[in-house]
Amino acid sequence: MSYLLKNGLLPPGSDSPSRVASAIKKDMERDIPPNRNLGSFICTQHSAAATELICSNFFKNQACVEEYGTVSEYLDQCISILSRLWNSGENELPVGAATTGSSEGIMLAGLAMKRAWEEKKNAVGRRPNVIVGSNAHTCIFKFTTYFDVEARVVPVNACSGFAMAPLGVRQRLDQETVGVFLTLGSTFTGHYDPVQEIGQCLDDYERQTGHFIPIHVDAASGGFVAPFDPACDNVIWDFRVRQVRSINASGHKFGFSPCAVGWLVWRDQSCIPPRLLMESVYLRGTQTAFTLSFSRSYAPVIVQYFNFHSLGNKGYQERMATLLSGAGRLSSELNGSGYFRCISPGHEPSPQIEKQERMICLCHEINCPSYRTSQPPSATGLPVVVFTLSDTFAAQHPQVTISDLSDRVYHKGFSIPYYALPYWGPDGRGIDVLRVVVRQDIVPQLSIIYDLLTHEIRQLCKE
Ligand SMILES: *Cc1c(COP(=O)(O)O)cnc(C)c1O
Repeated sequence: MSYLLKNGLLPPGSDSPSRVASAIKKDMERDIPPNRNLGSFICTQHSAAATELICSNFFKNQACVEEYGTVSEYLDQCISILSRLWNSGENELPVGAATTGSSEGIMLAGLAMKRAWEEKKNAVGRRPNVIVGSNAHTCIFKFTTYFDVEARVVPVNACSGFAMAPLGVRQRLDQETVGVFLTLGSTFTGHYDPVQEIGQCLDDYERQTGHFIPIHVDAASGGFVAPFDPACDNVIWDFRVRQVRSINASGHKFGFSPCAVGWLVWRDQSCIPPRLLMESVYLRGTQTAFTLSFSRSYAPVIVQYFNFHSLGNKGYQERMATLLSGAGRLSSELNGSGYFRCISPGHEPSPQIEKQERMICLCHEINCPSYRTSQPPSATGLPVVVFTLSDTFAAQHPQVTISDLSDRVYHKGFSIPYYALPYWGPDGRGIDVLRVVVRQDIVPQLSIIYDLLTHEIRQLCKE
């Protein structure tokens, strides 16, 4: 029990700062510590040097661009680094912004696509739409709601290999389509949408109708994973795809920066309608920043710049290799336990599952919205482990549920969130899953996590 009175009123008198601070610290001990919050994507481990940079620069405000000119140069450098990492062309002049996270990046990218469509078309009296997968993050639906755009949802499921299927996109396009949102690294399962394949589908549509449709890639997690994963060498998902106008990523996820920083990069200044450029807060050289928020700490941007220089390409590659192999290890163990079946892509799929998914695809007609002409490479995806009960175990133990398991684990001091993937299963059934995001501070705990899960599920069987 805290000694601080929680009555929702400002106390009339003052109290000693150290006493109040220690009461607050004591109070917060009831919460799960960040390194045991296993479902979160947010980076929760920082080196001593990075922590020092955070503390000593926390009070620098991003709104004061002139006063902190050095930091604003760092920001421009980060955008340049990311645009090259995402393969912008030699002759292009990418522009971008630091945001509070991917959500804000998505709002801005969506807004730019909407305005561009309005300027090109005679938009009066017509309702714009965007194509999104049911695997899209909720913030994309926030965009469509806040900015009054119709969301045309392509169903994503086991049949489509847990990623957007080009035919599902093709069936929903029309003259009112402002753009397509694709996800590089689904929050739900870790799969990458086939950006290149969908680009080709948009090529066909453009040839037939003359209507160019841009893509925005929500690479919140994958933007920092795919460029450093050798398995992705042949995955063309970035500015190499002609339709890709903009890409966002969360610096505070696999960029290894503290909360709150995201990145948004447009292929070229021409992707931003001039009307929005006029609203920009500041212009410096070729970099243009326009954001929804104003005052916030510059510290996460400084740490992003620090990370780029201290880790370099080699450091990011090494870290991603550790995270991906950790995810692979945990996945194989869970698959091998007999209790679980992983649906995330960070592991070699068991032959049985692969066969099952192939069968599901073959049983569909070519005009099934989830039909895919090619299966994605199975070993590419985020370092996440998303799993459900194995079919055999579930049939033998109908009383054991994923939510009970999540609750038991929570009472042991670890958060492994569970959620439902409605209609994602074979035959349109839902799948209940648990998610472990393999972050740096999770890697040393992987065997504890495996033991905990198998121990708790055995306990559930006994009940
Ligand atoms: C986390 C995430 C977001 C939201 O990002 P924030 O940085 O939390 O604003 C959007 N899309 C995807 C795919 C994500 O994983």
